[in-house]
Amino acid sequence: MPQHALNTPVCRDCDGFATVAITTGTRHRDGSRSTLRVACPSCKGTGHTAPAAALTRAER
Ligand SMILES: [Zn+2]
Repeated sequence: MPQHALNTPVCRDCDGFATVAITTGTRHRDGSRSTLRVACPSCKGTGHTAPAAALTRAER
């Protein structure tokens, strides 16, 4: 497999990191930090610019 294959377009908004954990600053009672998982609105958490339906078509 070539390492620089560009057959999978990466979302430019999140650069592939579609789901980001954000610390809210608050902490739970056990001391762990409270985090929110936010999905990129452009790719809707897929990390790619093309929708899932288009990717499925491209494989055929
Ligand atoms: Zn994205």
